[in-house]
Amino acid sequence: MSLRDLYAIDVEKLAGVGPKRRDSLVAMELPTVGDLLTHYPRRYLDRTRQSAIADLMEGEEATIVVTVLTTESRRLKGNRAMVTSTVTDGESTMTLTFFNQRWRERQLRAGLEAIVFGKMESYRGRAQMTSPVVDLVGDQTGKIIPVYPQSEKAGVTSSDLARFIGEALRRTITVPGARQLADPIPDWIITGRGLVGRSVAVAGIHIPESHQEVSDARRRLIFDELFRMQVSLVRRKRLIEETSQGVAHRSGGQLLASFTDALPFPLTAAQKRTIAEIEADLRRPMPMHRLLQGDVGAGKTLVAVSSMLTAVDGGHQAALMAPTEVLAEQHAIGIKHLLSDLDVPEPSSLLGSRPLSVELLTGRTATADRKRILGGLTSGLTDIVIGTHALLQEKVQFNSLGVVVIDEQHRFGVEQRAALRNKNGDGTVPDVLVMTATPIPRTAAMTVYGDLDVSVLDELPPGRTPIITHHVDAPGTLDGEPPLSLEQMWSELRTSVRQGRQAYVVCPLIDESENIEAASAEETFERLSLRELQGLRVGLLHGRVSPDDRDSVMESFRMGELDVLVATTVIEVGVDVPNATTMVILDADRFGIAQLHQLRGRVGRGSHSSVCWLVASPTTPDGEARVQALVGSTDGFELAEIDLDLRGEGTILGERQKGRNDLKLASLRHNREVVVDARQAAMDLLDIDPTLSDHPLLFDELALLAEGTDEEFLLKG
Ligand code: ADP
Ligand code: MG
Repeated sequence: MSLRDLYAIDVEKLAGVGPKRRDSLVAMELPTVGDLLTHYPRRYLDRTRQSAIADLMEGEEATIVVTVLTTESRRLKGNRAMVTSTVTDGESTMTLTFFNQRWRERQLRAGLEAIVFGKMESYRGRAQMTSPVVDLVGDQTGKIIPVYPQSEKAGVTSSDLARFIGEALRRTITVPGARQLADPIPDWIITGRGLVGRSVAVAGIHIPESHQEVSDARRRLIFDELFRMQVSLVRRKRLIEETSQGVAHRSGGQLLASFTDALPFPLTAAQKRTIAEIEADLRRPMPMHRLLQGDVGAGKTLVAVSSMLTAVDGGHQAALMAPTEVLAEQHAIGIKHLLSDLDVPEPSSLLGSRPLSVELLTGRTATADRKRILGGLTSGLTDIVIGTHALLQEKVQFNSLGVVVIDEQHRFGVEQRAALRNKNGDGTVPDVLVMTATPIPRTAAMTVYGDLDVSVLDELPPGRTPIITHHVDAPGTLDGEPPLSLEQMWSELRTSVRQGRQAYVVCPLIDESENIEAASAEETFERLSLRELQGLRVGLLHGRVSPDDRDSVMESFRMGELDVLVATTVIEVGVDVPNATTMVILDADRFGIAQLHQLRGRVGRGSHSSVCWLVASPTTPDGEARVQALVGSTDGFELAEIDLDLRGEGTILGERQKGRNDLKLASLRHNREVVVDARQAAMDLLDIDPTLSDHPLLFDELALLAEGTDEEFLLKG
């Protein structure tokens, strides 16, 4: 029986599931036998290893099987309710306390057997648990009892689920002579890794006889989830490569050589390595699809510029797309400056060459300029164009677009990446380099960007002094270092300005609207100008500052005509003023780790030592953890790991979490080696069977799981 067969059997077909039960299961999004069998236990109760109330110490976490003696509900002030239940494990009694869960009174009837999991407390000398997890396992027998995610709302308990799933297993695999589950993954992949068969795994996860069976089952099912994901990703990547005609660039051109020679510093080893990786891709006739990961300040711009120059060297054009106007403008200024002395061959001109031309195209480029730039792109006289989403518009057509660089990938969708790929009249697909300054752990990258090759810039240019990060707190304290005071912070900022340095102050993040955020930034600006920063030259930048004013503020700051720039997160990425050495972030606990790291990356760009002040009175444990993470590390990859731990993988997986293909057991945090291994297995398989035509069961399973996702079209036909 295939997964598709299982997903085609309605739960109502199971003994014990009538129309009412069916409705409840549908409400839990478990309408079919396939859904039920992949609804996995969240933990197991080992009857031989349960705790006794009397043996537990205060503060210890434990699972206890109890019988309810009495339950009562009391009204507290403020219309709150408290339910207390006295339960026994057969020898001693304890109290369970719940607040504002009045339904517990009905749930915990006298005589009910339940499994509670929680932290042992002592209240007035009595054993107690507050808001423990309660699972109802009914009269299930067996030594190891699966505990399922249940639904109070739908009225389906863990023991109900165990019953239905047991029935589903009897109908499919556990009864002798039943048809067993089809195993779509080839034997050489499974046995080579010491994995159990799929039927064994599915039985083992639901009705294990030992802990070993559970862990064998998990290993196999986790592998399956990650393997399927990787087969889809690797297949997509290869399909793109095979079906499109790319540009085979010549590397080692003259432009690139003169550019590199003229740099005032040598490239870092990491820059050399990634540039070589990209060059190798560029030489191939297949379109490149590569991700460049690098920490803030690692020097990604030079790598991007090198690849663009390789395109221009061969007579092609290059485009760089940034997520915001500020960033596009910054890039344009920086890159024009970097390339200002370069000439390209131009046989039709008197000198046989002309200056390399770099243009900026955004939504606010004036009409006349716009016409000229569009003309230059079609004729080929514009070599490099830098811009925003405006580059995606249909009117923008190229003579021969050879390389596309997309900066700060996390703000662009997959479709936008795709849109840039068909900008050439002759149907050739440019090479695409995606740059992200928000590093994510390598194994997560294999999952989220699994259809891209990955290069990592894991080295900062020499001579940087590490940024010192302080936590500043008015009231309250964190664990560890006592926070420094606001007074000290402003005074150190003023001192550094007296020494000729510059500073940023980032205003509190306000999610509601850009207008409110702008208003609040203005308020902050005025207050600081009158008090803490009085006498300093202070500029203001937020989303509502008009573009012209914005340019002149940025320019003044860059020229050193402003001492302090008070800004919202518009300065989050791309701003590069090496003389700025102080970063103050107000209400820092409201920002995410990646964002704080980005903001902090605006300083520490020159030879002077830099400091970052995180002003925060964290109110949530997560806010506190984020601030502590930044104080403790300046390594973007390490911070990314912490972020993954704090936020869970859902946020990183984002879009990919849609559809049935969810990772139910596998975790990007806990199964890192399996991700790598599954990717290797996927590549091995696709090497010998690129279209999966020899593995129809696997193909069908991928198609089934891709239904309703953007992966679907790849599996059609
Ligand atoms: P990223 O985009 O990766 O955050 P940038 O490309 O903006 O970093 O580079 C940060 C700064 O480091 C720039 O001022 C750049 O000129 C400088 N830089 C880049 N590569 C080197 C190098 N090899 N040696 C010294 N400085 C470098
Ligand atoms: Mg950058």
